[in-house]
Amino acid sequence: MKKSALFILGFLVLSNFIALGAVFYLEQPGVLEVNFFDVGQGDAIFIETPKKHQILIDGGPSSVILEKLNKEMPFWDRSLDLIILSHPEKDHLTGLLAVLKRYKVENILWTGVIKETSGFGEWQDLIEKEKTKEGAKIIIAEAGKKVSASEVILEILNPLENLEGKTVKEVNDTSIVSHLIFGENSFLFSGDISDKVEKRLVLNDLPLKFDVLKVAHHGSKYSSSEIFLEKVSAKIAVICVGKNSYGHPTEEVLTRLEKFGIKVLRTDQDGDIKIFSDGENLKLKTQSQKSKVTVLN
Ligand SMILES: [Zn+2]
Repeated sequence: MKKSALFILGFLVLSNFIALGAVFYLEQPGVLEVNFFDVGQGDAIFIETPKKHQILIDGGPSSVILEKLNKEMPFWDRSLDLIILSHPEKDHLTGLLAVLKRYKVENILWTGVIKETSGFGEWQDLIEKEKTKEGAKIIIAEAGKKVSASEVILEILNPLENLEGKTVKEVNDTSIVSHLIFGENSFLFSGDISDKVEKRLVLNDLPLKFDVLKVAHHGSKYSSSEIFLEKVSAKIAVICVGKNSYGHPTEEVLTRLEKFGIKVLRTDQDGDIKIFSDGENLKLKTQSQKSKVTVLN
């Protein structure tokens, strides 16, 4: 084929994509999407704001995250606006290493806490490289800090203090807890915190009332205490969980969620879970329901 023909073909393909992109956008004006990916035992939550800002909270335990992102992002899009590492444990960290190798990341939010876990040294090297070579901004999480992506706000509720360079006993309790607000809708991402941190959040009278709760620590019985669930008063609880030897999610937690009448979604049973918000109403799409969209009341 001649060079000019190649160029024209390339142009046509490109203009098709622009048209498709525009149609998709027009069909869903002002919609926030929150994806809880089925990545096995671990967390990986991908958020796309109405203005197409992309945020990834944790990467799960493996490079499966790359396949998941491929399905949600156009193939030419190789950058993410923000990645968040809730805490440096393998089931949250490992996938982010693969993400940092494939994508350009504009902002990296984490606690800076030190944990001698496999992959941690590589994490430190990769984020330093992303900062020096690509100009990424590294933000140390602390309660009160807010990330604003046009009309969507992500506010940090935990940890209370700057943990940069510190070593702690209970790394789960250092998890970044964040509160995503879009219009009337709100989501709470709780990492792997235990009931100790939950209690503190309740006692400090933080604005806890949410539509969607990402259940802490994959449904561990040492999290999701009654006092916390009552205060959060979520409509939907999402448990990010896969095959594991810890008994997650535990009967205790499932019973407590049921007691408060909270609808439970699980990535091990529902597959990838997608929740849409227009700022007032929520809609749900899961792999298990063959991607049928249902309105949540
Ligand atoms: Zn975990």
